[in-house]
Amino acid sequence: MSKKVAVVTGANKGIGLAIVKGLCKAGFEGDILLTARNEKLGQEAVSALHSEGCKKVVFHQLDVCDQGSCSKLRKFLEENYGGLDVLINNAGIAFKQAATEPFGEQAEVTMRTNFWGTLWVCHALLPILRPNARVVSVSSFVSKRSLDQCSAELQAKLRSSDISEEELCLLMGEFVSAAQKGDHQAQGWPNTAYGTTKIGVTVLSRIQARVLGETRPGDGILLNACCPGLVQTDMAGPKASKSPEEGAETPVYLAMLPVGAKEPHGQLVWDKTVQAW
Ligand code: NDP
Repeated sequence: MSKKVAVVTGANKGIGLAIVKGLCKAGFEGDILLTARNEKLGQEAVSALHSEGCKKVVFHQLDVCDQGSCSKLRKFLEENYGGLDVLINNAGIAFKQAATEPFGEQAEVTMRTNFWGTLWVCHALLPILRPNARVVSVSSFVSKRSLDQCSAELQAKLRSSDISEEELCLLMGEFVSAAQKGDHQAQGWPNTAYGTTKIGVTVLSRIQARVLGETRPGDGILLNACCPGLVQTDMAGPKASKSPEEGAETPVYLAMLPVGAKEPHGQLVWDKTVQAW
């Protein structure tokens, strides 16, 4: 049988790095690919983990915004492992409150990494998931809060149990166009670029879980979105309530759901608890 393998995106620092460490400590049986867009930062993170005793961590370059980079990773996984057992979509960005870039630019840039980046990684890697694989997309509680701020019409679409990936992509594109014109609120969107991208991540997970249930029934694959909580990282700052290790707990729990578990699947989870969408 081929060796098991896990992939964590955006793992050179912050919650991603803590997830890699958490998978090691939880006894993931196989290699853990610490991926980063910057090779030097990624290699340094791997060396630090090796010196802490996490010897099964391996570096691979991955820029989630570069579809060529996603394809290279898929090829590497196919050639070296014959599939994928755990995927954690963690890479993400957020502009600071004090950022001076126009809102439309913030919306476009944040959407590219958080939503399109997650989608491109999934397009490359979901087809090679092995039976009993686990997929976790790091979204945020902010996705739920932002959903509640959408117009009733948008909320209905984004909560619908039969929305398609194509429809979601169109909606995310419409948000960015509206943000660039300055009329996103008039069109029913909340006034948050980050929050809207995370709505996209949560709804994408719901759709992907549904499609996996239809296309690979009986394969035991579980796919969920989660919120790590407010975590002390470069993104959230030092005043956040959780350490990166605490922030990694829910993503690691979802990644390590035992074979035979039937749920959660297609849910938004925080503090290891399923949340209403
Ligand atoms: P950090 O800013 O500390 O880390 C973000 C990571 O994502 C970095 O490794 C960064 O790489 C990487 N990244 C950004 N863009 C890309 C890209 N195009 N390709 C590959 N990697 C990329 O943030 P956090 O650790 O706090 O955030 C991790 C995830 O958790 C994000 O999705 C975030 O939205 C989410 N989250 C965080 C919360 C918090 O309180 N911190 C709360 C809720 C959700 P590089 O170093 O090269 O920039």
